[in-house]
Amino acid sequence: MADPVRRDPNDAWVECTCGSRHWGLAGAAGLALVDRATRTVALQLRSARSHQGSTWALPGGAIGTGETPLQGALREASEEADIRADDVVPDVVSVLDHEVWSYTTVVAHVARDASATSRPVLRPLDGESADLRWVDLDEVTDLPLHPAFATAWPRLRVLADAGPTLVVDVSNVLGARPDGWWRDRAGASSRLLAEIGTAVSPSGPGVPAAWFGLDAATAWPRTVAVLEGAARDATTTVPAPGARFEVVRAPGSGDDAIVAAVEAVTADGSGPVVVATADRGLQGRLPPGVRTLGPGTLRKRILEA
Ligand SMILES: [Zn+2]
Repeated sequence: MADPVRRDPNDAWVECTCGSRHWGLAGAAGLALVDRATRTVALQLRSARSHQGSTWALPGGAIGTGETPLQGALREASEEADIRADDVVPDVVSVLDHEVWSYTTVVAHVARDASATSRPVLRPLDGESADLRWVDLDEVTDLPLHPAFATAWPRLRVLADAGPTLVVDVSNVLGARPDGWWRDRAGASSRLLAEIGTAVSPSGPGVPAAWFGLDAATAWPRTVAVLEGAARDATTTVPAPGARFEVVRAPGSGDDAIVAAVEAVTADGSGPVVVATADRGLQGRLPPGVRTLGPGTLRKRILEA
């Protein structure tokens, strides 16, 4: 059995406390890329020569020097399956922690704009893939799976449907901290939007997946920020694609706009929704199952980011 090709100082085996050995001194990462339109996931048949060869798993491998797990997963998916980073929208990451080694799974979906009629074509670019396939989410367990992937799949299957959404009651979050925001409501709103946008951008640090009740580490939620009153003039220079960070300028009641935004998300069966607000009147109007998040918790996290 040949070892994988060594291209980086981190490409080496780790003798793990669990009794197994794992590839990648800095840990490893894989990409679970889901096409929501066809309810399929991109899987790789590992080459017969590889460790646990001739089994199906996620494209992935050792995290390289200086890479984040997300960057490592995207690079491996590009090298092994010709999946371009532009086609990938990360939703959550799940981390399997073995203390001296860890495996990070990036659960993501295919970025499809109105003009995209098909999912990316999977092409084996290096020798590590014997085959690549879009597999129906309900048929993954019919394949001979890599043992570690077989163990992880039931949790990943739940996360594959997650698609978390964060709705921000901007006035309420702003009002929760007496920092002089009332002197320049639009300016303070603009700064808050930029902070949130940076955190949830696919290139940003994300937010805790636990906010959404998800059994994972970090989430990059689709985000809807609702502005009302004098804050409607806030500018938005947010480093995230428009569809992932939407700013709603409520013509009337901000609460009405927030309830409408939440109902629009829950109506199409999308994943968990969290509303950042401390407004009890608004909380009472939200559909059952929608969680709320305290303004202090949101601000603390995005300011750390
Ligand atoms: Zn281990």
